Amino acid sequence: MAIPTAMLKLSLRTHLRNLSRIGIPYAAHLQRQMSSEAILGRLKEKGLLRSQAFIAGKWVDAEDGTTLPVYNPATQELLANVACVGGKETKEAITSANNAFYSWSILTAAERSKILRKWYELLMAHKEELGQLMTLENGKPLKEGLGEVVYGASFVEFYAEEAKRVYGDIIPPPLGDRRLFVLKQPVGVVGAITPWNFPLAMITRKVAPALACGCTVVVKPSELTPLTALAAAELALQAGVPSGVLNVVMGNASQIGDTLLASSQVKKISFTGSTAVGKKLMAAAAGTVKKVSLELGGNAPCIIFDDANLEVAVKGTLAAKFRNAGQTCVCVNRILVQEGIYEKFAKLFSTAVQELRVGNGLEEGVLQGPLITHAAVQKVEKHIQDAVSKGAKLLVGGKQHNLGYTFYEPTVLGDANSSMLISREEVFGPVAPLFRFKTEDEAIQIANDTQFGLASYLFTENVSQAWRVAEALEYGLVGINEGIISTEVAPFGGVKESGVGREGSKYGIDEYLEVKYVCLGNMKP
Ligand code: NAP
Repeated sequence: MAIPTAMLKLSLRTHLRNLSRIGIPYAAHLQRQMSSEAILGRLKEKGLLRSQAFIAGKWVDAEDGTTLPVYNPATQELLANVACVGGKETKEAITSANNAFYSWSILTAAERSKILRKWYELLMAHKEELGQLMTLENGKPLKEGLGEVVYGASFVEFYAEEAKRVYGDIIPPPLGDRRLFVLKQPVGVVGAITPWNFPLAMITRKVAPALACGCTVVVKPSELTPLTALAAAELALQAGVPSGVLNVVMGNASQIGDTLLASSQVKKISFTGSTAVGKKLMAAAAGTVKKVSLELGGNAPCIIFDDANLEVAVKGTLAAKFRNAGQTCVCVNRILVQEGIYEKFAKLFSTAVQELRVGNGLEEGVLQGPLITHAAVQKVEKHIQDAVSKGAKLLVGGKQHNLGYTFYEPTVLGDANSSMLISREEVFGPVAPLFRFKTEDEAIQIANDTQFGLASYLFTENVSQAWRVAEALEYGLVGINEGIISTEVAPFGGVKESGVGREGSKYGIDEYLEVKYVCLGNMKP
């Protein structure tokens, strides 16, 4: 369903009027109104502004006509009203994926690879539009939005290639008249549930390997950022992904989730999101004993040793902390600094943080956009109040940004300690707490003192120390002297309560494959 431009303008004006009534200033937003409209207009022209669910190769409304508003977190503009579906439509999507499974799975790997490659090319050809759309619905700076398109598309390219490398095994038999084989086969229909913080990459990281090995998928993107998912589905359709192989439903999260979990046709659930929801899904998946992959929350430590190259450490920590306004699962949550360089690091890091320009992600030079919702800002405030009440010092920032109620100042807290909420819980915002430590053993103990185990970072010039610490950290990912480490060619995933399974790399495709053992016996001599 195309959204008429006149309706977009009307709903935007009404929404802005409502905002002013409740005291939220919007003069700055009005100035940017045209550029958002221009972006949406361009997306519409190219058929990439979709608002319906995508089921069995068709764009469909919710059966009861319900819609869900999607807002720009920087301006509170209404971007679109999308179909808000529930259990019934999800069942249809599962049926369509189930019906499409056989014919998709028996294509040759080369045939599936060709379609995925085409999808990759289309995603890259529409990099600008997709990057802008992501900035509109998620708020991340445009440079990060464009970066995510490249990152998201890289999984499609990688698995287009990997599709051709799903090898089985031949096992030397224990008896002479037997031959033993291992086949790798697609699991079947996959339910993929994704969050708002990477509206494209979290989807392609699941869908690309699933499709590559012959599975079909029902995707449920976050209600906060469904537009990028729908645009990606439109491009998959244009690339030749057959009807039913990829379906997208958004709306009532628990109804959609419950329906996916209850269905015996769905053989696998792949979820990225919070640990709380992940645990619920894992428990519910037991009902039909589904395969499960979970990419959950983190509490990433970043250890800066006395001998670290300070320039590298400041740059790496800044990138690992403030990317996407601190709203990534691999964002640093605790910065542990050895006492010998604590003061120097705190000073250099604080200066760098002060220079981060905050604003609407569409503006040139902006390095930190808004948080996704006002609730996210309130969580940040709660963490800061708690830390300050327990002795932390505000070195930089510490309050809502004057740009509006979803913006928060990049913040640095000194003298953080383990009694603070921020030492245990993901802040998921632009707050960097500095903790002091004395010895390597103490740093490892503090770093591992959490139920999470996703990303960790360390900065040192001592190679032996780097290896010792990397091996001792109870985390799925370790960055040594580097703050941005995600790539499609390396396995991504957590240990402990940060999840199970891996995405990306040659390991990522295993999550969508069953291993079948075939024994050929009684062979004639
Ligand atoms: P979330 O609240 O858990 O939501 C994630 C997805 O689950 C959304 O699509 C959400 O739908 C859906 N959902 C919520 N309740 C559900 C239910 N009962 N049944 C089925 N689906 C349900 O997480 P979030 O706030 O969007 O994302 C932030 C979290 O994700 C952070 O903890 C972050 O660390 C984690 N994350 C982890 C990784 C990783 O790779 N490990 C990557 C990115 C993010 P609606 O949005 O429509 O409600």
